[in-house]
Amino acid sequence: MPTVEVISVGTELLLGQILNTHGQYLGRELAALGLDLYYQTSVGDNRARVIQAFARAWERSDVVILTGGLGPTDDDLTKEAVAGFLGLELIEDAASRRWLDKFFARRGRRMTPNNLKQATLPQGAKALPNPNGTAPGVLLETGGKAAIMLPGPPAELLPMFADHVRPYLIERWGGGRTVIVSRVLRLCGIGESDAETRVKDILTRQGNPTIAPLASGGEVTFRLTAKATTPAEGSVLLDQAEAEMRGRLGQHIYGLDQQTLSDVVGDQMTRASLTIALAESCTGGLIGHQLTQRPGSSDYFRLGVIAYANEAKTAALGVPAEVIRDHGAVSEETALAMALGVRRVAGTDMALATTGIAGPGGGTPDKPVGLVYGALVWPGGEDVRRWDFIGGRQHIKERAAFAALTMLWDHLKGLRQTGGVAGKDGTGAGAGV
Ligand code: ATP
Repeated sequence: MPTVEVISVGTELLLGQILNTHGQYLGRELAALGLDLYYQTSVGDNRARVIQAFARAWERSDVVILTGGLGPTDDDLTKEAVAGFLGLELIEDAASRRWLDKFFARRGRRMTPNNLKQATLPQGAKALPNPNGTAPGVLLETGGKAAIMLPGPPAELLPMFADHVRPYLIERWGGGRTVIVSRVLRLCGIGESDAETRVKDILTRQGNPTIAPLASGGEVTFRLTAKATTPAEGSVLLDQAEAEMRGRLGQHIYGLDQQTLSDVVGDQMTRASLTIALAESCTGGLIGHQLTQRPGSSDYFRLGVIAYANEAKTAALGVPAEVIRDHGAVSEETALAMALGVRRVAGTDMALATTGIAGPGGGTPDKPVGLVYGALVWPGGEDVRRWDFIGGRQHIKERAAFAALTMLWDHLKGLRQTGGVAGKDGTGAGAGV
């Protein structure tokens, strides 16, 4: 199986001035072709270092794709570095020269001598036409390997890859004979290490699909990646791995791929014809924002109140002043009173409330930064939870919103499992929640 490697050339990439979107694009394209990409390197516009990066890549990979550094200026040196390393001369390519002449003539611009270097190719290389710019791409095959050089501007690289490189990789390097497909399992209500421990043996003996745990924004996910000869076969392999993972973690898997927790609870509420209102303190409207990201959220989302000050909790939500005085604004009792209050005001089936200390100030030994209470109420029931998050303000807010939505998901899932209460449509919340 041939291996491919990508080198992105450009000092601006190293300085963080631009995002390496070519890395992402090429990674995705090569995966779709089923070609193995084991390394990606970014290197600045420095001849010695480009040569160094290329030398390593050339030694360990069959196909090396370089991006950027094909332009007319002195710091555009990709071609020079590759040709120099391979001991090849740069020779003017007649067709590329004609294209350059025409390009400048059409724009009524005079071609400066440094532009001419764009029409040169390493001996034996083939030019890849660039209808969107001046620098052609380069395809060089030598010693059973290939170096492919593509221009930096995305508007030039993307069509050149699609029109010339992809077909070449299919024809010459067997691209497309296998496909790489992935699926992301999204979890809530469980920490990364707990989740990993439960599937440790699966992770240890994994082969195809591979399974990689990831954690970001308080969310735990597992990416399953399968290699197969067809997407359908890949899908079967993913189904099998997913089923095995569900056997261990099923009660925590809320969705797949791009699904968000707020989308999933939105679907559940829509199907059960249930409505919700929010009373948010420390999450500052984040839960409301997330719930309303889903088109059609007006079916279930009625009212969101951001009640920050104690007086506002009392005035807008009817939280008794003595509850706040006796237990504090960040307490189980206040969270519950907020949820009950907003449900009364909105007349919804359910209500969800948060109150906590997002920091960085405001913490005490008793109630440290990161302490958050969430309360969910529904007809005939309530759930109040306490969380202790660590991290910065933004992180705590995000974790709190996610945990509160998890509480809602747990409840809606419980309805499905037990047959639940009747939804307003009379079909019962159990019907398809
Ligand atoms: P030009 O002919 O414009 O000089 P070039 O092939 O020499 O093109 P660079 O000068 O390296 O390419 O890059 C030109 C522009 O292309 C950069 O300023 C940047 O906007 C974009 N670019 C280059 N590399 C990348 C990359 N890896 N990801 C995203 N954009 C990139």
